[in-house]
Amino acid sequence: MIQKIEHIGIAVKNLETSNELFKKLFGNSHYKIEAVESEGVSTSFFMLGETKIELLQATNNESSIAKFIEKKGEGIHHIAYAVNNIEAEMQRLKNEGFELINAQPKDGADNKRICFLHPKTTNGVLVELCEDKK
Ligand code: ZN
Repeated sequence: MIQKIEHIGIAVKNLETSNELFKKLFGNSHYKIEAVESEGVSTSFFMLGETKIELLQATNNESSIAKFIEKKGEGIHHIAYAVNNIEAEMQRLKNEGFELINAQPKDGADNKRICFLHPKTTNGVLVELCEDKK
């Protein structure tokens, strides 16, 4: 079951500059910076009550974030929903006709197992499912 919005991912060109910008916006600093090498991204996280904002900067030109910024510019990249059983939720959504980008959960930032749904089956919104690693 989808429980809540866990975080919103925002693609940025420069993590350092954007960390300063979002610090001004929220009146609070990011609580972590984490690279996810398999995805070619460097991320930072801000806590806003129960929800987080994840900033993502590409670390190489092949990264999906680099391609996203090239096509659309900086901005909202994905919405991540917390689930308590990612395998079950992936199966349920697959049965409902959604296209999973990865067939198996993979490691994401901030101690999560994640799966993305293709935006062509979700009205243009890249959806991430994430489950806390146990
Ligand atoms: Zn995310």
